[in-house]
Amino acid sequence: MLHQKYPLKWHKKDFSTKIFCSIPNIATGILIRAGDSLLVVDPGDGILRDLNKEMIPKKILTISNLYITHGHHDHIGGVWALLTYMRVMNKKNPLAIHFPVGCVEIESIYNAFKKVYSKTIPYKISLNVITGSKSFKRNGVMVKPFPVIHKEYLHDGVTTKQVPALGYKFTFEDLKICYGGDTAYCTDLVKNAKGSDLAIIEAGHDDDTPDEMHMTLKEAKSIGQSAKDYFLVHVPD
Ligand SMILES: [Zn+2]
Ligand SMILES: [Zn+2]
Repeated sequence: MLHQKYPLKWHKKDFSTKIFCSIPNIATGILIRAGDSLLVVDPGDGILRDLNKEMIPKKILTISNLYITHGHHDHIGGVWALLTYMRVMNKKNPLAIHFPVGCVEIESIYNAFKKVYSKTIPYKISLNVITGSKSFKRNGVMVKPFPVIHKEYLHDGVTTKQVPALGYKFTFEDLKICYGGDTAYCTDLVKNAKGSDLAIIEAGHDDDTPDEMHMTLKEAKSIGQSAKDYFLVHVPD
């Protein structure tokens, strides 16, 4: 079994990433720096603590984009803390939250936050509900969302259903970081990871039989090796 030591760090020119952690069922937290701008991907539990260790509060307030791959708690557990921190610290510039259509967890957190604090939120929040694979540009970063295969069990513990789930490819200048989020082996991830400067690939399945939720180490490695550099994340302990 591959043991990773977090944080994982990568950088090339002005483009860098720090993966604070990516532990299945516990928490994820990914920071990407593109020149002067900061973006956060999958703010799981502990993201505020990790950002606070990384930079001064003023800098945290400059974060203007959150990218959510899917609504599982280990990927969004820190959203409420971030929104609230930004309110208390009087953030002024807007925040956009990007997430897949149908991700009720983010919609619910946003609605609850708006309800609890009603007219006392000093910054504008916009929700970017992603419905397709169309690229868009934010703060000099080209963002390409792509669909991935990620299922969860229903209450009976046997039946599964697909959850709204995306991966993202971030391009800054001529460099590309591809992150698949949680996913089974899928062609969209294979396509987007190939040739990327960095691929962040989950290997969350703990035996050698593939399923429709996570990838085995072998599957994840095969995709990672098609990129110039890669990290395997979300590996069970
Ligand atoms: Zn997960
Ligand atoms: Zn998940």
